[in-house]
Amino acid sequence: MPLMEIILEGDPRLRQKATKVRAVDDGLRKIAADMFETMLDAPGVGLAGPQVGVMRRIIVVHLPVGYVHEDDPEVSLTLINPEIVKGHGRESGQEGCLSIPGWVGDVPRMTSITVKGMDLDNRHIRLKAEGMLARVLQHEIDHLDGILFVDRVEDRSTLFEIPEEEERAELLAE
Ligand code: ZN
Repeated sequence: MPLMEIILEGDPRLRQKATKVRAVDDGLRKIAADMFETMLDAPGVGLAGPQVGVMRRIIVVHLPVGYVHEDDPEVSLTLINPEIVKGHGRESGQEGCLSIPGWVGDVPRMTSITVKGMDLDNRHIRLKAEGMLARVLQHEIDHLDGILFVDRVEDRSTLFEIPEEEERAELLAE
């Protein structure tokens, strides 16, 4: 499957609102598969349609086993029209973005959320997420509304660029 080009901050598409998907068809399933490959290759833990120039409400997420805590299970998700219907708590944590390579900053997010959306078979789904998964989902859903994590950094002193020579693979890149 071909990798897609990840577009970078400054490209106006990252600032546009993505449109709702009426029904998932084979074309969108192919895009979802390509997005998933592109995210894994980057490597990243999440990717939203607009980041690859797809202006539709689609996100993919992949957290490897033990991503934060040793016993964390692997999470692989593709969500169509994801929407946060409930959320509570607030916690600041470091984020990065595949569209803003090398930069990280502390972003406050809800600690626990309920998201509804559709899967690739047009089934309505609803899921609860906490901690890192909740953070990644909020970051990706923001992309669908043209919002980047740097917009949500409250303390600008936490926003910085990791020097090239340092290992960037460890970063949370979405
Ligand atoms: Zn991002």
